[in-house]
Amino acid sequence: MGIVSSKLRNSAKGEICTFAIPGICNHDPETTVLCHIRDEAKGLSNKANDYSAAFGCYACHTAIDQHRLSKEDELFYSLRAMQRTWAVWVSRGLIVMPVDVPRSKPSSKIAARRHIASGETIR
Ligand SMILES: [Zn+2]
Repeated sequence: MGIVSSKLRNSAKGEICTFAIPGICNHDPETTVLCHIRDEAKGLSNKANDYSAAFGCYACHTAIDQHRLSKEDELFYSLRAMQRTWAVWVSRGLIVMPVDVPRSKPSSKIAARRHIASGETIR
């Protein structure tokens, strides 16, 4: 059995569809559920892990589950949807990621100066 998280599953309620497959998506958040994307946990009777999933409307979910798209399109839309869903989960703290604090880079347009007394480089 894959990893199950009721918080991740419940987070899909009322969300916009992250698959947004042109010509298929119904763009109705009322139909959005957590759509599992095939992963290594998925066997004959197992569902994929809950983190291998994306917010999807009924129409996109059906199209993915029934393999109505080419393999390339299915992979593209599934990966994009999962990345969009992960962005939401990380921003809400549902998945915690040790993100680096951005450091300001010294501008290459400003020439380094030296301190008059110590001779140290000043940026
Ligand atoms: Zn959709």
